[in-house]
Amino acid sequence: MKNFSKNIITVLLIFMLIAGVYSLVAEQTSLPKEISISQLVQEINAGNIKAIEVKGEDLKIIFQDDSIKSAKKEAETSLSQTLSNYNVSKDQLVKVSMAVKNPSGLWFWFGSLLPFLLPLFLIIFFFWLMARQVKSTSLQAFSFGKSRARMVEPGNLKERVTFKDVAGVHEAKEELMEIVEFLKNPKKFLDIGARIPKGVLLMGAPGTGKTLLARAVAGEAGVPFFHISGSEFVEMFVGVGASRVRDLFKDAKKAAPAIIFVDEIDAVARQRGAGLGGGHDEREQTLNQILVEMDGFEPHEKVIVMAATNRPDVLDPALLRPGRFDRRVILDLPDVKDREEILNIHAVKKPLGEDVNLRVISERTPGFSGADLQNLMNEGAIFAARENRKKVSQYDLIRSIEKVMLGPERKSHLLTKEEKKIAAFHEAGHSLVASVLLYADPVHKISLVSRGKAAGYTLKLPLEERHLYSKKHFLDELAVFLGGYTAEKLVFNDLTTGAGDDIYRATEIARDLVVRYGMSDKMGPVAFEGREEMIFLGRDFSSGKNYSEEVAKEIDREVKRIMNDANKRAKNVLIKYREALERIANELIEKETIEREEFDGILKSFGIKLKERKIEV
Ligand code: ADP
Ligand code: MG
Ligand code: ZN
Repeated sequence: MKNFSKNIITVLLIFMLIAGVYSLVAEQTSLPKEISISQLVQEINAGNIKAIEVKGEDLKIIFQDDSIKSAKKEAETSLSQTLSNYNVSKDQLVKVSMAVKNPSGLWFWFGSLLPFLLPLFLIIFFFWLMARQVKSTSLQAFSFGKSRARMVEPGNLKERVTFKDVAGVHEAKEELMEIVEFLKNPKKFLDIGARIPKGVLLMGAPGTGKTLLARAVAGEAGVPFFHISGSEFVEMFVGVGASRVRDLFKDAKKAAPAIIFVDEIDAVARQRGAGLGGGHDEREQTLNQILVEMDGFEPHEKVIVMAATNRPDVLDPALLRPGRFDRRVILDLPDVKDREEILNIHAVKKPLGEDVNLRVISERTPGFSGADLQNLMNEGAIFAARENRKKVSQYDLIRSIEKVMLGPERKSHLLTKEEKKIAAFHEAGHSLVASVLLYADPVHKISLVSRGKAAGYTLKLPLEERHLYSKKHFLDELAVFLGGYTAEKLVFNDLTTGAGDDIYRATEIARDLVVRYGMSDKMGPVAFEGREEMIFLGRDFSSGKNYSEEVAKEIDREVKRIMNDANKRAKNVLIKYREALERIANELIEKETIEREEFDGILKSFGIKLKERKIEV
């Protein structure tokens, strides 16, 4: 709006300037003094006039002394007629040279039209300015419903990204290979009736390369890539988001096989109906439209929708139903090795000094995301350039670590050396208990690189997909939950808040055993609490209690007993295999992640039998 008023002022100024110049010019042309016809006749009679030029009704009178004056005659009558009417002396008139000039066509017309045309031109100019103004503001008043997705053509080599440009995230890449193969050769899959996923949801912390990886899939497959951000759907006009979605899907189907990538989908796909004060109409409509489009298209349409989010917890469950985003790909923060690879990728085109050791840098940046590392390399180059050096030195990079670390969101998930050690023993505790207890799910991966709140995580996968869970399984799982807590206490004789979430979740499970599943011998086969009955504001808000205070006390006592038991079992395991615990923890401190094979090797060397793993990941 500021720009707009500035423009109005500019136009007014120009207008005034033109008016000023115009009047000045007009004055100058009328500068010769005007005399009347009777005066003119007197001058002719006196023999003072040398010549007269006639131009329409204007007379230019040139005196003997070359001074010039003007006069006007009546338009209809000729000059000689007029003069003779005034009794001019014929003898004198003969001496005056007379020239009649017809006003030349073009200039005459132009001159007489200019007063009308000038304001018209100004008005047109003014409107043109306004129209341009409106277009360039974000209002986009003329193109609401257009999808506004940016399309990257497969032939666009400058913007082409492939898997080579993405370091780490091996599991994610492996899963996405399948999508790439389908897009490359859809016929092969369709011919044997394979059902192809319609939607792939990429989940991971900010800067882990979700956007990059989505583009890499398109690059690998060589298909057009339609890229739009969730927030771009949400505009000030209701219904715009939905019509954009429609438009986007239409474009993509035309270009099929193609990828539609909805970045930051949480902006439109938050759980509907949750939260007080009603939902956001516009968001809901947009989300519905996305779902409608996804449900509506057939496999032969060869369009795959990819979406990215760093808040999978807030997503509407409707998105995750079969036939929608049923593939979920998790992108982890990079570990030491991956970080080195990422640094190497971003070191290309940056001349590095001989002293640079990227391994050292990657060891000192646990918790950095790919984006952080890219930023780090860039800051290093800036340091070097500012000091007029041609190469980036190790010192530049080390200084950059701090600079990137000071970024607002980064600090929270960085581990100090001490924290790293605690987290290592914590995760080692979980994983060891999970491996020793018979009914617990086996471990597939341990990592210190934080995912979400907790400092690290242990990925356990069930042996086979389960529909029924046994009491033994629950009790073992409770011990696994407490494995982290117990390890911290055992090794450091202290506790950290890192175990808080474990305790909370374990307590919930223990409570469910007692009040829902009738798995407590003491309480017997009674369900004290029902299923989530009160669906209020879209979520289970509170379950009704239907037992006495006395029973409540008993329940609490029973929950406590189960938790203490679990703790004892975890402790026994950790004491018995203390050496294995130390070994796993130290390995974690060094490498930050331990994959299944390596973990199995460690277990074996301590004489722990491996459980069968039927599920491959
Ligand atoms: P996200 O979408 O997950 O927030 P981006 O894909 O936008 O993250 O990543 C931002 C930038 O960080 C990328 O353009 C890339 O340069 C860099 N980056 C992130 N992850 C990686 C990775 N695994 N390998 C290489 N570069 C990465
Ligand atoms: Mg992104
Ligand atoms: Zn834990």
